[in-house]
Amino acid sequence: MNGNVLIIEDEDAIVNVLTSILIANEYIPVVAKDGNQALTMLRSFQPDVVLLDLGLPDIDGVDLLKKMKQTYNCPVLVVSARDNEWEKVEALDLGADDYITKPFGSSELLARIRVALRNRDGGEEKETVSKNIYCCGKLLVDLEKHMVMLDNKRIHLTKNELRIMELLSRNPGKVLTYDYLIKNIWGSDMPENNRILRVNMANIRRKLEENPAEPKYIITEIGVGYRLADESYFLG
Ligand code: CA
Repeated sequence: MNGNVLIIEDEDAIVNVLTSILIANEYIPVVAKDGNQALTMLRSFQPDVVLLDLGLPDIDGVDLLKKMKQTYNCPVLVVSARDNEWEKVEALDLGADDYITKPFGSSELLARIRVALRNRDGGEEKETVSKNIYCCGKLLVDLEKHMVMLDNKRIHLTKNELRIMELLSRNPGKVLTYDYLIKNIWGSDMPENNRILRVNMANIRRKLEENPAEPKYIITEIGVGYRLADESYFLG
């Protein structure tokens, strides 16, 4: 078995889709139909990962997320029908590990769950040679030697471009928000830094991506941030 998953969701159709995907992939799903039921279950059942719908009948999903993050340290993936960028950013800022927008495919859901579980387990992954090396397709980032290689050739990046790649490589598969990247690279979230980040990202993509208009390695999450491809996305 791959782990226990607590599904907090009030819509039966979504619950059915989620439970059948999870069971078929050797996860054990447990369902809570509202926030209070979820809080009761969390006291006794220790999930490895939580799938949280933000639109619940009793408690606001965002408030429930806050409560869960204060009390329990299991990864939370927000499952949202609402495609509001601010809501995704808010959920990530409040400690959600990731989000997935309905409707989603089963491979996307499973990849997100694997990433969340791996991050919880401290970054252990079979595909990765060591914790200090990110490898996906032809791209390799060596965090110890501060080096980016593409197809066995060293790519010359500026200092900030390299720092961006290293931040992303420490969190493969996970979305990093614009604010998070800007604060970690430039130390403040001045509005003009958004533009500087975009310019840096365009330069990185020009150097790394075969087709910068359709990036394979650095995926844009519109209105939220960037996600570095994970081997499981890349191959799947
Ligand atoms: Ca709902």
